Amino acid sequence: MTPTPPVIQIDDLHKAYGALEVLKGVSLSAPRGHVISLIGSSGSGKSTLLRCCNLLEDSQQGEILFKGEPLLWKGSGHNRRPADPRQVLRIRTNLSMVFQQFNLWAHMTILQNVMEAPLTVLRRERAEVEAAARKYLDKVGIGDKCDVFPAQLSGGQQQRAAIARALCMEPEALLFDEPTSALDPELEQEVVKVIKDLANEGRTMIIVTHDMKLAADVSDHVIFLHQGLIEEQGPPDMLFGAPKSERLRGFLSATH
Ligand code: ADP
Ligand code: MG
Repeated sequence: MTPTPPVIQIDDLHKAYGALEVLKGVSLSAPRGHVISLIGSSGSGKSTLLRCCNLLEDSQQGEILFKGEPLLWKGSGHNRRPADPRQVLRIRTNLSMVFQQFNLWAHMTILQNVMEAPLTVLRRERAEVEAAARKYLDKVGIGDKCDVFPAQLSGGQQQRAAIARALCMEPEALLFDEPTSALDPELEQEVVKVIKDLANEGRTMIIVTHDMKLAADVSDHVIFLHQGLIEEQGPPDMLFGAPKSERLRGFLSATH
């Protein structure tokens, strides 16, 4: 039997904004059920890498595979673009992103926020989507907030709503970009708990985080990025317990 391919795999990815090289040949693989954490200083390319995974950003060189299926390109270098919009949509809807700033729609209730993409992008049936939305809002502990607007919620509740919204797409993997960075410390923990529950369920996740305790607790694999390259990677007990690179040691001592 052939092993299941990783949900997302990136091989030797290069990405520049104009003349600024941001990713200089980065590879990663997220096998089904694994949690990958991306750590590194501000500006090291973490968000860019995450956004390349679900095709929110173009890249100039390297391959992206979704469940073993290579993304098809046309053109090359700075003219390279994905060739097939349906493939892009399929990949993007299967890799749901949770942003630092929640990005909820202010004019929609929490329930409408969670239902919107499954209804309009996936064209799923309304009653089924509503049942799923309520289920996921219950799961993240805000089932009683269906009919309020985002501004009426705390930051931690808004981020949990954003996680419910991502889950309601029934994606193959969840991508988190600093999900707790905008929150006060006392609200951070309620979001951390939801992320830990998702990890324990066996969800495939890639998490950009500044929270080393979260990365140590939930990850199967941690990647330390430095100036657009992987400086060191490995299981969390190795990376945090016995860091080899001087730069990683410096980074870890600065974050404690
Ligand atoms: P991180 O998430 O690790 O802080 P980013 O991926 O956001 O890093 O940014 C990596 C580098 O790319 C930084 O030098 C940043 O200024 C630059 N960058 C990010 N987005 C853009 C953009 N849209 N246009 C130009 N430069 C960008
Ligand atoms: Mg970032």
